[in-house]
Amino acid sequence: MNPTEAPPRRVPRPVVERVFVGIPVSPGVAIGPVFGTSEPKAEITRLKIHAADIAAEGARLEAAIAQSRKQLGKLRIRLTVLPEESQAEIAPLIDAYVRMLGPSRLVRGVKRRIEEGLMSAEAAVVAEADAIAAQIVGHSEAGASAEDRAGLRRQAEEVREIGRRLVRNLTRAPFRSFAGLPDGAILYSESLRPADAALLDPSRLAGVATEEGGTDGHTAVMLRALGVPAVLGAAGIGHAIKPGELAIVDGGAGTVVLNPSAATLAAARRAVTAFARERQRFARLRRLPAETEDGESVELQANLELPLELPLIAQSGAVGIGLLRTEFLFMNRETVPDENSQAEVYRSVVEAMNGDPVTIRVLDWGGEKEIEALSAAGIVPDYADTNPALGMRGIRLLLRRPELFETQLAAILRAASVGPVRVMLPMVTNVAEVREAREIYERVARRLRRRGERLPEKLPPLGIMIETPGAALSADALALEADFFAIGTNDLTAYTLAVDRGESDVAELYDPLHPAVLRLIQFATEAALRMRMPVSVCGEMGGNPALIPLLMGLGLRSFSMNASAVPRVKQVVRSVEIDACARFARKVMEQSDPEAIRQMVAGFGK
Ligand code: PEP
Ligand code: MG
Repeated sequence: MNPTEAPPRRVPRPVVERVFVGIPVSPGVAIGPVFGTSEPKAEITRLKIHAADIAAEGARLEAAIAQSRKQLGKLRIRLTVLPEESQAEIAPLIDAYVRMLGPSRLVRGVKRRIEEGLMSAEAAVVAEADAIAAQIVGHSEAGASAEDRAGLRRQAEEVREIGRRLVRNLTRAPFRSFAGLPDGAILYSESLRPADAALLDPSRLAGVATEEGGTDGHTAVMLRALGVPAVLGAAGIGHAIKPGELAIVDGGAGTVVLNPSAATLAAARRAVTAFARERQRFARLRRLPAETEDGESVELQANLELPLELPLIAQSGAVGIGLLRTEFLFMNRETVPDENSQAEVYRSVVEAMNGDPVTIRVLDWGGEKEIEALSAAGIVPDYADTNPALGMRGIRLLLRRPELFETQLAAILRAASVGPVRVMLPMVTNVAEVREAREIYERVARRLRRRGERLPEKLPPLGIMIETPGAALSADALALEADFFAIGTNDLTAYTLAVDRGESDVAELYDPLHPAVLRLIQFATEAALRMRMPVSVCGEMGGNPALIPLLMGLGLRSFSMNASAVPRVKQVVRSVEIDACARFARKVMEQSDPEAIRQMVAGFGK
């Protein structure tokens, strides 16, 4: 600094409240300091490579560059929802990042370090980004003005930031460092994978806000299950948020407020109290039967994503588990769980349900449900190279990898000795899959019996998810093969409307009330009812109180949902008459306009 130059005066910037709008995925209001997980966490364990690996390392770098460009491209598109001044602030920064991923000094330098220094791609990125950043900062000491110096420091930080993104993509480092998460904090992350959500401790976390994510993606499902107020897909928030600052997440309204004013804060505190009171009111419904005004019984069950939800399920008044998603067992671990360890978990869940039925769905890998242990074991194809939603998902993988399937079936069958169990197949699209799965199921049961395991005389029912349009439209044929149906409206909506359920860009197209989705639900339900076969809804529609009269009018009497939704749904069930629901459903099914349907649903009973 020039000694004659007066030090720059620190003019405190007025702290202004900023509101970001995203997708409301888990109700409740949270107030707390922001904890960001987008800081570098990627651990670099591999520093050096052999000369023979240079080409492969170059290819890894290219893939990480492509992935980073894709991520930034998505952010760039999503900026259009922000006010113009925010766009003007953020867009140039993203453009600068994208330029650095082109034929830039950074990329050239990284390649040179891989080829000449035999460095791993991630080590080369860190070294090159640090070297460039240090050089830029060095310029700032050479007599530049205060303003220029600040600009150069910003530039250096930008180089490091793009380096961090590349390293994250190279190491596929999950955002796992929740260890330092202070109690009562609001977690911010650019995106949160289902496997990351599975590591959150809901008793310590106030809320979640992310830049990416969609309504019924698996992350959203998990956050709802954990009862953590959450807003996903809040465009632009990542560039505005500062660790430690106060924020409010309103998971019902879909807003995130940074630096709330005193008035906003007071209103949020009132909302927190009101939400807690409402929960207490609902708790009183727990012991009342789920029965319509005219005496029709309805089955209300819970979905379970993580064992830590078991106490919530017990408090909710749910009678059994209608969907036990087993993916959690495979997540966040290095190896695939063996039969004994799986059997232990299934048995403990079945025992905890005290005689109420538990529907265990076999592994639904694929789509957005990425699981490292399966990639590490070479069991699944490289996630990045496939169109995951249309590729090797659910039952397809299990039939291709019978050892994985058989191990899981054996573990489930062993748990069936301690309580009522049903087995469910995900992502079925045709009859042959069910037949083949049943053959394997019976073979596993025979083997266990030979081994002396105690199995129920009649094998637990083997049912299927109806979650693809193909399955829904073949429901009459599938009803001859399966013992029960569970309609998975999350994937059914996504596949029918060709909309990624976890994607914020197209979130407004994700519409379970689209007549096409409703017709498929109706077709599948009627096929099951004709066969007197149990049918339920276990997708998120089944936990939406507003949609229950319509679904009941279509003939459904069984719903499985996140535990916290049970009381609200029960309240609706207890307030309607079946005939009124049936008349309502007939009128809705005459409509072809989703908007008209939405209005009818909102107006039901008013
Ligand atoms: C569904 O698709 O509706 C469903 C219940 O399964 P998942 O959400 O686990 O894909
Ligand atoms: Mg599904």
